[in-house]
Amino acid sequence: MIDEHVSLSRYTTIGTGGPARWFAQPASIDELQQTLRWAVEQGVPVEAIGLGSNLLVHDDGVEMLVLKLAGDLAAARVEDGVLVAGGGAANAVCVHRARSAGLGGFEFASAIPGTAGGGVRMNAGAYGREWRDVLIDAVVVDAQRVRTLGPAELELSYRHSGLRPGEVVAQVRFRLDVSTAEAVKKKGRELLMERKASQPTDKRTFGSVFKNPGDGPGAGSLIEECGLKGHCIGGARISPRHANFIENPGGATSADCIALMELARGRVRERFGVVLEHEVRFLGPLALAGA
Ligand SMILES: Cc1cc2nc3c(=O)[nH]c(=O)nc-3n(C[C@H](O)[C@H](O)[C@H](O)COP(=O)(O)OP(=O)(O)OC[C@H]3O[C@@H](n4cnc5c(N)ncnc54)[C@H](O)[C@@H]3O)c2cc1C
Repeated sequence: MIDEHVSLSRYTTIGTGGPARWFAQPASIDELQQTLRWAVEQGVPVEAIGLGSNLLVHDDGVEMLVLKLAGDLAAARVEDGVLVAGGGAANAVCVHRARSAGLGGFEFASAIPGTAGGGVRMNAGAYGREWRDVLIDAVVVDAQRVRTLGPAELELSYRHSGLRPGEVVAQVRFRLDVSTAEAVKKKGRELLMERKASQPTDKRTFGSVFKNPGDGPGAGSLIEECGLKGHCIGGARISPRHANFIENPGGATSADCIALMELARGRVRERFGVVLEHEVRFLGPLALAGA
């Protein structure tokens, strides 16, 4: 079923953005492919979202079909020692399934509030591990084909994949290590504590705003050096805790977030000659001036 004019602000962790012109929640690969074919026939652009944890949506909404995977495509299980996750399965669910089966190596994802499929798209990572370190393969669906692709074919690198618009990750298989439920729980708890000490985990954000530049200090340190911690535009604020996060304490718009990003990017370029590249993904006609 394809719904119309569905507000996306409740599907993003920052809580901003307008409606999707079309919105569907396919629960199987067949349903997903039928929906993708509909989009091609209608000439409508299509984008999948996970938990919207690295997403900024235009305030006026998006003239596209937005897909949120459901049912089997959002579930996870362990089969023969392999974690098999639907593209829409939350990382927290995946970690839980792995822990119950005594499998370790995915604890780093405990602190990443996204999905298995979103993690492939972003090659998400933390604490020195990324999706490509544990990924066996992913089932990628478009209007024509259902393909199983390995890490090299997915072109995974730092917060990047080679996935193109209209290609949806429907399933992911992860290779994990034999561990114990207790050890997995302990490790996950330690990483979450570490995270809470340095990042605004209790605020609405979309995670890292900018990618870290190749060498030297990270994006957060550069923005902090420019004196922008706590700086507000409209209802959005650069986090007083970590300058590479933008918070929505209530009442922020996506335009406010863009304005803060332009300010931070401009100041860092002026002061350090470093051009920051945004990590957060844009949905709709959003862009940074001068980017
Ligand atoms: C508090 C906080 C902490 C975070 N910490 C980290 C961190 O440590 N490391 C890190 O890497 N990220 C981090 N993030 C960012 C974010 O959680 C990750 O990028 C995550 O992998 C995004 O997953 P998602 O399912 O929410 O994707 P979304 O944000 O919904 O989408 C992100 C991109 O993936 C695409 N996408 C989503 N699902 C699919 C699919 N099934 N098939 C194809 N494309 C898809 C979307 O179109 C979009 O381009 C953090 C975010 C928050 C809010």
